[in-house]
Amino acid sequence: MISKDDIRNALKQVEDPQLGGNLADLNMIKQIKISEDAINIRIELKTPKHPQKEDIRNKSIEVVQAVAGDNITIHVQFTAVITSGRDNKAKTINGIGVNDNLLPNVKNIIAVASGKGGVGKSTVAANLAIALGKEGAKVGLMDADIYGPSAPIMFGLRGERPKMTKINGKGMIMPMDRYGVKVISIGLLVDEKQAVVWRGPMVSSAIKQFVSDVYWGELDYLVIDLPPGTGDIHLTMVQTIPVTGAVIVTTPQQVALADAKKGVAMFSTGAIKVPVLGIVENMSYFTPPELPDKKYYIFGKDGAKRICSDFNIPLLGEIPIVESICEGGDVGIPALMGDDEITKKAFSDFADETARHIAIRNENLDPTKIVEMVR
Ligand code: ADP
Repeated sequence: MISKDDIRNALKQVEDPQLGGNLADLNMIKQIKISEDAINIRIELKTPKHPQKEDIRNKSIEVVQAVAGDNITIHVQFTAVITSGRDNKAKTINGIGVNDNLLPNVKNIIAVASGKGGVGKSTVAANLAIALGKEGAKVGLMDADIYGPSAPIMFGLRGERPKMTKINGKGMIMPMDRYGVKVISIGLLVDEKQAVVWRGPMVSSAIKQFVSDVYWGELDYLVIDLPPGTGDIHLTMVQTIPVTGAVIVTTPQQVALADAKKGVAMFSTGAIKVPVLGIVENMSYFTPPELPDKKYYIFGKDGAKRICSDFNIPLLGEIPIVESICEGGDVGIPALMGDDEITKKAFSDFADETARHIAIRNENLDPTKIVEMVR
């Protein structure tokens, strides 16, 4: 009679190509049921969508069949539980409570940053959030680009105001639901012209409010659209929120690439140790609609790829330059909600890669701590 240990041992031969390890060591085998004529195995995946799911199923059946014999039917069932890059336990250091337990029900916080404005950071952040949501994850988008909030326009929420609610006696702002994403932006809370004149401390307190006064609820991923550059807001952010990882957006032009390097450096220099999940190159190439097989690299080729290899970080995606991305963004229909299949695939492939690298990060690195800085 075959035992559960025999099955576990057999499954050591099955790799999860996404995470680079075998199912047993990665603790992905969640249940084994053995009956007279069948074996049921439940495997837990760690990303919302797994492109090699069927390969894992086939290989698992093959290796278990080899030890169990041909008279038994093997069923493999999948569930997906997104792992967390957070350490949510409330704790104190030298008797002082620390902030790592903020947003306790948010598993992963992804900061989307760029060295330079206008490279499509907000477009990428919005479509990343929507793509992850479409794959079944619970997702929020915090538009922290205080001086140039674009989420209200991109999500078609301009002029709308979020509702308030009472949670445990405290008044909280409810994020707005659109395209499967919970969205909050300074542009939804104050008059658009008002925030532009704010100074540093007001911006910092607005960011803190986004964390403490917005009722995010349970989220697998909170995507934060940071302002461009490498300034004070970024410092406030990493001092307030334990960011799981950063995604750097660039375009292929030399000036943008030079600033993208600064972005990568900002997250990994000195006291700030936020893992950089990778770089996404936006406006990478142009494909004329009548020549769908051609890619024209009008701003240069492989620039982001080179930075990635210099810093030894992944290239998460290459998004083409497409008129409909711009048009859709302007009228509140992000690319992923449009009907251009090539663009949609570019964004969802990028989102899958990001989710995969978050899972790898959560497997291999400790939770990010907020940065305690002495000035
Ligand atoms: P950032 O947040 O970096 O300032 P935005 O996301 O606001 O940049 O994008 C700047 C402009 O470029 C917007 O009008 C947007 O619609 C457009 N845009 C962004 N990405 C693309 C793309 N891949 N193809 C065409 N237009 C794009």
